[in-house]
Amino acid sequence: MSESAYNPYKNAQAQFDKVASIIGLDEGTREFLRQPMREYHFTIPVQMEDGSTKIFNGYRIQHNDARGPAKGGIRFHPQETIDTIRALAMWMTWKCAVVDIPLGGGKGGIICDPRSLTEKEQERLCRGYVRKIAKDMGPCLDVPAPDVMTNAKHMLWMLDEFETIHGGRYPGFITGKPVGMGGSLGRTEATGFGVIYTLREALKALNIKPEDTTASIQGFGNVAQYAALLYQQLGGRVIAVSCWDFADNQSYTFRKKDGLDVVALQGIVDSFGSLDKDKARDLGCEILPGEDWLAQEVDILIPAALENQITQANVNKISSQVKVIAEGANGPTTPDVDEIIKERNIFMIPDFLANAGGVTCSYFEQVQSNTNFYWEKDEVLEKLDLKMTAAFKAVWELAQQRNLYMRDAAYVISINRVAQAVKMRGWV
Ligand code: NAD
Repeated sequence: MSESAYNPYKNAQAQFDKVASIIGLDEGTREFLRQPMREYHFTIPVQMEDGSTKIFNGYRIQHNDARGPAKGGIRFHPQETIDTIRALAMWMTWKCAVVDIPLGGGKGGIICDPRSLTEKEQERLCRGYVRKIAKDMGPCLDVPAPDVMTNAKHMLWMLDEFETIHGGRYPGFITGKPVGMGGSLGRTEATGFGVIYTLREALKALNIKPEDTTASIQGFGNVAQYAALLYQQLGGRVIAVSCWDFADNQSYTFRKKDGLDVVALQGIVDSFGSLDKDKARDLGCEILPGEDWLAQEVDILIPAALENQITQANVNKISSQVKVIAEGANGPTTPDVDEIIKERNIFMIPDFLANAGGVTCSYFEQVQSNTNFYWEKDEVLEKLDLKMTAAFKAVWELAQQRNLYMRDAAYVISINRVAQAVKMRGWV
């Protein structure tokens, strides 16, 4: 999140510029889309438990809302930067467009470390954030969600403040609410399952049977666990996952060549917060260095932990057996490595397509909240599968027709859809 390594906003703009040139976007539209439509920067005074008042800095960026209300999380982070939020807001615009949901892109943040704040202080901070921006957000304007270091509890405080200000019940103002308080069934599974819906379609397109494949996954959190579960249901074998070990302050890879017991590993995480090495050994796992997840002789790699994980420094460790990379995490592959992956003929399912299941389910939550009618889990997952499959097919077909790398094809579709919306509205 620090600006020292690279500037994510410049990166997002560079990605945009590249595709704007591919599609020959006119100068006006290009200038309009390469920056946010609106930015809110504000201070949030919070009365602390010791009686003092502390001032926090809050931001909300609405990159584009031509296709529908802006959508994106609010994150808490001590080193948050405005350029990170700008980039994330822009990526949200493309993500919502690629899965063709009627939402735009937004993102917000507060510079703070919630671990050093009491519950009451966090509640005041959430309510203070909403008070500063309540007139410029809402079910028809801009719909927030949880993000780094924010969760359902924060969302409910924000919703309550919004409803107090506006008078009434507006559950569609925010997503990521707990089930029973306006949340959607299936949200827990949505991102990981979405990764596998797109992977299933990729394997079909490549004429590979899932049951003939093996996978290695970086991470074993929300996205990775549900991706692993569904992939195994399709007949694939997960032979390695990795996980951060807080006690040792490093990551490890857990490998079992004839296939990991994903449900048992999930049980370990539920009990211990992460993968306990002794318990994993009892299940027959070998414990390897954290980076080894990338070097496994598997058909599929699923980075589902962090950004900037497949880099110039380690890309050569990828086995010649690997046929597909499905990016569960946001930005796990550095831009300079795309060329190498392309040359090696590894099929890439880019992050904003592969992991769009989360925002798609958030959109379903919003629809359910706005209509005050909640769907069964099977219905949510069925609708999710339809959306993800259609999105994959559109990107795949364009990639085939125009001989484009999948990431570029996904961008072409998204940027074209958003450019068309701003033109149809007569904005440019
Ligand atoms: P999470 O916090 O539940 O899990 C993260 C996992 O990564 C944990 O298992 C952790 O141990 C592991 N990890 C952390 N550092 C690591 C390292 N250096 N090496 C190996 N493993 C490491 O997070 P999540 O919700 O699963 O999100 C994972 C990624 O997916 C993030 O990039 C996130 O932005 C992205 N994403 C998540 C969602 C969602 O709905 N959860 C949606 C879209 C994108």
